[in-house]
Amino acid sequence: MDCKLARGVLSVASLLAVLSAAVGAAEPARRPNILYIMSDDHAAHAISCYSGVVNQTPNLDRLARGGMRFDHCFVTNSICAPSRAAILTGKYSHLNGVTVFNRFDGSQPTVAKHLQAAGYHTGIVGKWHLGSDPTGFDEYEIHPGQGRYFDPVYYSATRVRTIKGYATDVTTDLAIEFLKNRPKDKPFFLMCHHKAPHRAWEPDAKHKAVFADRKIAEPPTLRDDYAGRTDAIRENRQRVFDDMTRRDLKLEPPADLKGAKLNEWLGTKPTEVEIEAGGEKKVLKGEELNAWKYQRYMRDYLACVQAIDDNVGRLLDWLDANGLAGNTMVIYTSDQGFFLGDHGMYDKRFMYEESLKMPFIVRWPGVVKPGSVQTAMALNVDFAPTFMEAAGLPVPAEMQGRSLVALLRGEVPADWRTSMYYRYYHDPGHHNTRTHYGVRTATHKLIHFWKKDQWELYDLVKDPEELRNLYQEPGQRETIEKLKAELYRLKKEVRDEDQFADDQPPSGVDGPAPPRPAS
Ligand code: CA
Repeated sequence: MDCKLARGVLSVASLLAVLSAAVGAAEPARRPNILYIMSDDHAAHAISCYSGVVNQTPNLDRLARGGMRFDHCFVTNSICAPSRAAILTGKYSHLNGVTVFNRFDGSQPTVAKHLQAAGYHTGIVGKWHLGSDPTGFDEYEIHPGQGRYFDPVYYSATRVRTIKGYATDVTTDLAIEFLKNRPKDKPFFLMCHHKAPHRAWEPDAKHKAVFADRKIAEPPTLRDDYAGRTDAIRENRQRVFDDMTRRDLKLEPPADLKGAKLNEWLGTKPTEVEIEAGGEKKVLKGEELNAWKYQRYMRDYLACVQAIDDNVGRLLDWLDANGLAGNTMVIYTSDQGFFLGDHGMYDKRFMYEESLKMPFIVRWPGVVKPGSVQTAMALNVDFAPTFMEAAGLPVPAEMQGRSLVALLRGEVPADWRTSMYYRYYHDPGHHNTRTHYGVRTATHKLIHFWKKDQWELYDLVKDPEELRNLYQEPGQRETIEKLKAELYRLKKEVRDEDQFADDQPPSGVDGPAPPRPAS
């Protein structure tokens, strides 16, 4: 009865909204502009409003003060191209077709196409990285492939050009150019995608100088020995101490090296490094070298982040100066998280928290309460449905995510998700990361490295750093059975039809070795 009454009230409210929109009398009729700013590999714990341990990001903090910070926004497949495809389509990798670095089929529906058809002026600048050319955008000017940090190349539908300068600054210049030249009688949807702070973490001179002597705090899991974990984490090749190349560490090659020999030198993972300290040369090795490598990595990474922060500030200032801040939804996010020495690693891919978690900050005056924090679970597949609802459009049935607009209003619907499905495909692939899938709830995480038939179970409340794999420990059977049931329920719900095991919670804790799916 209560439920029916609630639905009745809602439908009257919806009807009123439609009527007021039709007569152009009320605020809901004004469709917001959408400025979506996304960086590449920017971990939430390198943003001061999330963490404040390793750096200060005043402009991202300013955005969060004016809007909502999401503390549990997760990526469904933690690498670049797959996340970008999921964001554009609102669909998981297995349905949008980008499971690894394969080409995006631009003929499928995307949020850009829907907004464009509904009268939005749409654009994308910066990193695209989906193989095919963008569709659904009135204007695009994007890097070929990964792009480069200095004097970046951009191409549009009609030209290719190299623009002098630093990519993060130039991409922001292009975003401002798009905003200045846009048709003023239409709302805009602009995706401003930065290359930074992606590997090889090349900062501009100004920010490099800021971090030159900075001592960055080491994360508590930098020297994780992986005890009790699966072979998958032990086999990873994305370790700060062991896998950084001379190129990553910005070591100066001998002047006479050229061509293939130079590349070989730069691609080598050094076990000794000669540095100059206090006017004297010194050879670093062992633990001293390890600590130096971490500092070197983080200084460059954080200096790249600082340029992003400055440029987010430039965009916010521009909106203010042009009277657009009030009716523009501004989003800041990254295509996934990143390991900042956590578990000894750099890069992403694994379902562990630092890689799974995306920063997600939304400022939307009049809708979002300034300075608010949302702890309900959001996913990258939710972004497209959110933009649809914000624009007053119905969410298409093929989008698998759910609009976050209720969450943005500070309301968490009673039937909001309490678990999420994750799947990483790229195996064999970069950094020797084993394919896996898993489920995360508010309190637990269960991961199956299915090619190895090895499992990890974490209690995120008691062990937020995910150091203690409980899977083989006594007393966990009931928790494991419940999580497996939820994992297979989610897998079915998102229509991932690859068969790993029985698609049923196995009767024993250790299920049979799964057959290999086609992917
Ligand atoms: Ca990325």
